[in-house]
Amino acid sequence: MTVLDHLARADRTLFSFEVLPPKKGERIDAIFAAVEALLPFRPAFIDVTAHAVDIHFLDAGQGLVKRVAVQRRPGTLGVCAAIQHRYRIDTVPHLICSGATREELENDLIQYSFLGIENVMALRGDPVHGEKRFRPIEGGHAFAQGLVEQAAAMGEGRYLHEEGGSARFCIGVAGYPEKHLEAPNQEADLRRLKDKVDAGAGFIVTQMFFDNQLYFDFVERCRAAGITAPIIPGLKPITGPRQVSLLPAAFGIQIPCALADAIDGSGPDQARRVGIEWCIEQSRELMSRGAPCLHYYTMGRSEAVAEIAEAVFA
Ligand code: FAD
Repeated sequence: MTVLDHLARADRTLFSFEVLPPKKGERIDAIFAAVEALLPFRPAFIDVTAHAVDIHFLDAGQGLVKRVAVQRRPGTLGVCAAIQHRYRIDTVPHLICSGATREELENDLIQYSFLGIENVMALRGDPVHGEKRFRPIEGGHAFAQGLVEQAAAMGEGRYLHEEGGSARFCIGVAGYPEKHLEAPNQEADLRRLKDKVDAGAGFIVTQMFFDNQLYFDFVERCRAAGITAPIIPGLKPITGPRQVSLLPAAFGIQIPCALADAIDGSGPDQARRVGIEWCIEQSRELMSRGAPCLHYYTMGRSEAVAEIAEAVFA
């Protein structure tokens, strides 16, 4: 079932979360354990993230350096297939433009379609580690909008180099209540978001935020700009003191004073407790004000999200 079908049939705020494919050499059991810990809260769908290659420079001897592309977490497709077939829960694979040609993206989408996966999150991906700007590879997309257009065209049976049967997807895209960190201003970023929706995206999942007012204002600005797609808030509980500085640096988001002050100087256990309580309060307010679904970033760990879901969805 598509994310839009789930939302249309829901008589309550839905619960969803994302998992990361295992690191190379690790087994899938940890993912199954994370999913199973969250099954009691009836997730409507489960996202599986995608990971770009990192460029590493290895010593090749004799003063030479070898450049190699390393992907730490391949396997989005396999994890989606395993979850969907083991638990009969819809999955939403993330598909990133980073490091992929249009042909490779088309092949990925065809495989998702074969597996009965009806949803996809179309994302650009971040710049390669150590680079300031995102650079598409030759034959790839520079922006997520291109991938949305490509996936939407496949729904009409239009492939890159031929026509064929339709591979239809419910396409999700990323939205940024505080603007994307590369965007010059909120208005420009909103116009880009509208372009993605006009290109065929059916729903939006937001970047994490820690002040609900940012989400409510964002929804209002989207509606005023003519974006009618459902906007699913993305939530991440803070689980350690260092995240108060790491998250703003990595994602261009702000941590409200009250939250930062409550964590300032505290140890890991206290910071985790404060972070979880904050997320519970955020979740309750979003739910009471009619958010269609609450989507949690697990960052590969489900314990904190399970505590929140127990307080909010049990
Ligand atoms: P875009 O929509 O392409 O936007 C990127 C920037 O370009 C923005 O500043 C936008 O304003 C600007 N822009 C857009 N279109 C144009 C245009 N036509 N001309 C000029 N400027 C333009 N990353 C991963 O690697 N894997 C994941 O699994 C993953 N999952 C995510 C899930 C969610 C819900 C979110 C919010 C982010 C996720 N990301 C993931 C991170 C994402 O890849 C980065 O935030 C990335 O920097 C931007 O991706 P995007 O799809 O928003 O890009």
